[in-house]
Amino acid sequence: MRVVHYQGLDIPNHKDQTRNIGISSIPASSQLVLPLNQHHDTLLIPCVIPGQRVLAGQAIAKPAHRLGASLHAPVSGLVRAIEPCATATSQKNTTPSIVLSNDTLAPSVTHSSTTPHWHSLSSITLCEQLASGGIVGLGGAVFPVATKLAAHTQHPINQLIINGVECEPYISCDDHLMQEHATEILQGTKIMMHACQTSSAIIAIEADKPEAIAAIGNRLHELNDNRIRVQVIPSTYPSGDEGQLIRHLTGQEIPHGKLPAHIGIIVSNVATVYASARWILHGEPLISRIVTVSGNGISKPGNYRVLLGTSMQDVLRHCGAVFKPGQRLIMGGAMMGHALDHTGYPVIKATNSLILADDQELNPVVVEQACIRCGECAEACPVHLLPQQLLSHARHGHKKALQQLGLYDCIECGNCDYVCPSHIRLVTHFRRAKQVT
Ligand code: SF4
Ligand code: SF4
Repeated sequence: MRVVHYQGLDIPNHKDQTRNIGISSIPASSQLVLPLNQHHDTLLIPCVIPGQRVLAGQAIAKPAHRLGASLHAPVSGLVRAIEPCATATSQKNTTPSIVLSNDTLAPSVTHSSTTPHWHSLSSITLCEQLASGGIVGLGGAVFPVATKLAAHTQHPINQLIINGVECEPYISCDDHLMQEHATEILQGTKIMMHACQTSSAIIAIEADKPEAIAAIGNRLHELNDNRIRVQVIPSTYPSGDEGQLIRHLTGQEIPHGKLPAHIGIIVSNVATVYASARWILHGEPLISRIVTVSGNGISKPGNYRVLLGTSMQDVLRHCGAVFKPGQRLIMGGAMMGHALDHTGYPVIKATNSLILADDQELNPVVVEQACIRCGECAEACPVHLLPQQLLSHARHGHKKALQQLGLYDCIECGNCDYVCPSHIRLVTHFRRAKQVT
């Protein structure tokens, strides 16, 4: 397959708001809401009932598939209800959710056990163990990690890539995780290598993260494990996209309609690797995550450890912010994220960032102009699509043409929006078109 080298976009970096602030915790809320659809569109099955008391770390919902991921109570408390709630990923529709009242306000895990002899487990048993800890991809995709790693039973894995690139312009949670938890990230890397039966791992870090590169590099030097290496890659956008990263590191392309495992590669985010180590070695299931809270509307920006189910309103309040008219609240990054219409949604496993932008920030809202056929969007597209043509067919609902032009290959990186001189929100059109084609 032809490999086309794409240089990426050099976009303004807004990480300075949070780059030098260490990870701190946001206090547990009195009530947590835990949607049952947080794992890549799969609805979990509750294993608790309203009125039941639960311990922090106890499984409260299970997947239908043994390699799916469970959901755990972030605090000890009482199951108040299992009822439909609105979530950040499906704002117009409600999702069955477990509503948990917090009876201790203490986030310590009291319902778990460790797996110190993970090396002696079979790879599939280790995958099942990761599934029971609720571990999913924390880069945003929230795909169950056990399902991904177990692909080695069908396709031998030659290369594990740990993604520490974090190219989104505001987000720095992975950067801080690498700086502060290099040991766990390397432990998690070794656990994942065993789970997918590979003998080679690359930890990819963008060049604009020198402290993280040093922290991981120093720890790796002490570990003296020559199966793992650090690779520094250029700071361009979207270099952290899975396909871009694989191309940059290996020169290989993921064939159309296939997964990285089909070419012997698995990519996992550094936060996922960290979460795997916390579960396997410390018995802490995935009940919290690091969230970058940033933007001009935030008076105390930073990287915060937030319990799942915490209301975004409580997060913003802790960070000295109130959502005002004219501001925009975005979950998931300035380039690839989604605007939220209010702050009442709970933090879920996919919430890597919350940006509260003022009216002059992030491409201020301006009226779209007609397409002038300048071709800038096609130049900027990292997967070599023709966004202008996709736009035209999306507007007219031409499903067949959209499929032929590769709508589903669009990674929603936002590059075409960013460069368009007519301020056309192309990605919004593409997201809508994907829902109906
Ligand atoms: S959002 Fe889609 S079409 Fe636009 S540049 Fe990115 S991949 Fe290409
Ligand atoms: S960048 Fe905008 S104006 Fe230029 S061709 Fe693409 S959609 Fe049209």
